[in-house]
Parts: sequence; structure tokens; C-alpha cells
Amino acid sequence: MKKTKPLIVANWKMNPDTQDKAKALFLETKRSAEKSPKVKVIVCPPYIYLPELGKLKDKSVILGAQDASTEPAGSFTGEISAIMLKHQGEGYVIIGHSERRAMGESDDLISKKVAMALKTGLKVILCVGENARDGHGEYLHFLREQLIKSLSGVSKSFLKNLIVAYEPVWAIGKTEAEAMTARDLHETSLYLKKVLAEIYGPKIGPAISILYGGSVSYKNAKQLLEEGEVQGLLVGHESLSPRKFEALLQSLN
Ligand code: PEP
Repeated sequence: MKKTKPLIVANWKMNPDTQDKAKALFLETKRSAEKSPKVKVIVCPPYIYLPELGKLKDKSVILGAQDASTEPAGSFTGEISAIMLKHQGEGYVIIGHSERRAMGESDDLISKKVAMALKTGLKVILCVGENARDGHGEYLHFLREQLIKSLSGVSKSFLKNLIVAYEPVWAIGKTEAEAMTARDLHETSLYLKKVLAEIYGPKIGPAISILYGGSVSYKNAKQLLEEGEVQGLLVGHESLSPRKFEALLQSLN
């Protein structure tokens, strides 16, 4: 089987606070990505920085957005459409991040956003993840439901542009000591592939790439990727530290 490069997605969230800082961080990230050519790097900054960062990008880094509307255009104050992102030249978009779900986004809304972004030709990184784990496997039912509902309305024909990011909410924004273990991740990634097979059939479903996100650092990235058997990682706070992010990319190169 052809070995594909691991996908490392830097989710800057609502950071940094000025365009100058965003440009400086992007240039450092680009330099780190150039030194790690065996890794595919996607940077998802706040929307407002996309046009300027687009001028600085080259083949070493791809830009993505952190959300996109369900609608193509119209009276939706504050929204940004998938078509706008496409025209801007962005290839990727994160949808259904737990921080947006916590602001009230439902699986139904997320499935509409996913469908619209895919229809527009963007590559979608759909986030799913349980809030907490219990000893009885209830979280597995939760994950299954969340995945099925978030993908309702997404037909097989768009799946080549779909990536699922598994981000257990309890592991986000912590230290690497509190991240998921590679062993638990392996079990969960297999489970998610099983659910995807259930939705889209045994051939296409498991071929969808799975990423892991939640307190990934330069210390645990390699183990999570390899032993967790995921195709990439979503990196939050560590992507805001150029030195640590460079070490993370180097550890995978
Ligand atoms: C995230 O919220 O997408 C994330 C991965 O955050 P962190 O790495 O900070 O846990």
C-alpha cells in the first residue's frame, strides 16, 4: 500500500491577536514545515488572516479555515461561506470542533456545514469526540451517534475529501500527561473505522483518514501517530509555539 504523509493540522483557534504576530508565526511554521518534508502541514488561522497569509504560503504549508456556513450566501450576519473560502484559495476547513459544539452547534447543523463544504469542493476535517469516558462503554455509543448524525446527508461521492478528526473533549488543552494513551487511541480509531464501514460500506468507510487531536506535543506525537494508527494529528496550543511545533514536525519526519 502507498504510504501517505501524515497530516498535521495546526488549529490556531482565536490566536494570535495581531496580523503581524500571525505573519511571524506563519513564517516560522513554514520554515519548520520546509525542514520536515515527509509531513503534510495545514495551518488553520482565524479567517481574518487568511488573505495575508495566503500571500506568504508556498508548497510546504496549506491553509485552512476553522469553520464554514451551511449557506452559500445571503443574510447571515457574521458568517463565512464555503464558496468564499474556495475563492480565497483555501483547500481545507475544520467543521464541528468541540469548542463550536459547546457554543451550541448541533450534529444536524454540522452535517449541513459538512455537506455544503464538500459540495463546494473543500476538504473537510470533521471533528468528533466524547466529553468524558465511562467504564461501561457508553462513550462508544455517543461517538457512534455523533459520527452518524454529523455525516447524515453526506453521500459516498464526496468521501475522498472527508477526514475525521477524533478529539476527545476531556483531552483538549491539557498537558501531554493528560492526553489519550496510544493504546486507547488505537482502540478508538479502529472503532471509528468500524462505524464508518457501517455507514459507507466495508471498502470505502475504513479508507477515510482519521486524525487525533487533544494535547498532542512533540513528546507524544510520534507514539500517538504510530501506535494509535491514525493518519495524522490536530494540534492546538502546541502549534502556537514555533519551537515546540518544529520539534513536533521533526519527530515525525
Ligand atoms: C484542538 O482543540 O483542536 C486541540 C487539538 O487542542 P490542544 O492541542 O490544545 O489540546
